[in-house]
Amino acid sequence: MDEGDDFIQSKKIVVLGATGTIGKMTLDVLKRSEEFEVVGISAHKSAKLLLKEKAEFPGALTALTGDRAEDIDFCGDHAIEALMEKTHPEQVVVGIAGFAGLKHAITAAKYSNRLCLANKESIVAGGDFFLKSVKDSNCEIIPVDSEHNAVFQLIDGEKSPVESIFITASGGAVRDVPVENLKDVTPEMVLKHPIWNMGARITVDSATMFNKGLEIMEAHFLFGFPANKIVAVLHPQGKVHGMIRLNDGTVKMLASRADMRLPIAYACHYPKRTESFEDFSPFGELTFERPDLTRYPALKLAYECLNEGDGARVVYNAADEIAVEAFLKKKIYFTDIYRIVEKVLENNWPKILNDYESIEAVDAKARRLARKMVKRCC
Ligand code: MG
Repeated sequence: MDEGDDFIQSKKIVVLGATGTIGKMTLDVLKRSEEFEVVGISAHKSAKLLLKEKAEFPGALTALTGDRAEDIDFCGDHAIEALMEKTHPEQVVVGIAGFAGLKHAITAAKYSNRLCLANKESIVAGGDFFLKSVKDSNCEIIPVDSEHNAVFQLIDGEKSPVESIFITASGGAVRDVPVENLKDVTPEMVLKHPIWNMGARITVDSATMFNKGLEIMEAHFLFGFPANKIVAVLHPQGKVHGMIRLNDGTVKMLASRADMRLPIAYACHYPKRTESFEDFSPFGELTFERPDLTRYPALKLAYECLNEGDGARVVYNAADEIAVEAFLKKKIYFTDIYRIVEKVLENNWPKILNDYESIEAVDAKARRLARKMVKRCC
């Protein structure tokens, strides 16, 4: 190569969960970047959409984990492993939703150097076991979840001790409905999120704050802070995503547009930044409040789970996923979501889970119990 030649070797990247909300936004980010070559994309069942996406990234191999379809390169249980083996990407964006993200993130870490991780369930359910697996594979995690991405940016390069961290919450779509009327809110009302455009489960989780509960657990493992040093803050404007309190009492905040493409682009390009998509205006009102725990009991439950050990976190996630599904199908009331998770948690759950099989077994049992509870509610 001639001196001065500005040719940049592009990095190979795979997008897992490419047909979901995060996956689609990731492809939108990568389409504009010269730095990456998309060598693989995966989906669970949406073969048609996956092939449509491939048309834009003709070099990408395709994997389908939950179905078989013509023209897809790898199908079935081992599709992700086969995709990784064939492509050996430098980076993987894990946009898979739910518990399935755990095993696929572990596989992705074996073959790549960086996980841009949007799947919070892998951290919540996998805990220390997951982080150790990733570390043993010599892979780094850059969080994509907007609050954690913000905290990551704030801590990165900070020379003073960080005393505590804050993650913000919008309060969800029904935050102004009187607590006594919450029972009657419908999926249609809950799915109209005021700030973020996200998948259905996370939008419901944002109204119950189960999402924030999961994020408190996620922050605990990502940044190594104890539960009492991780604070959830109600911030309806959705402009500030994370804050850190330094040892002299100073609070540093990170503000940006509420657009998931920003943390995705940051995680992919780190430590560089890319051109922004649109300007961000910091003007206008910014308010920060402590969330009302009678409105958001899921938040209190998350802190309790974090102190309960590994099993409780797996259950918190699994039971919520089943309850949200039932709520979306109008089988249970909005307020039953919390009741079901709380009830399932009342069983005796293991304190330590240090392999995938035991985590999966707890997840499966919690789902079974939650389904039983759903039937009782019907
Ligand atoms: Mg988030």
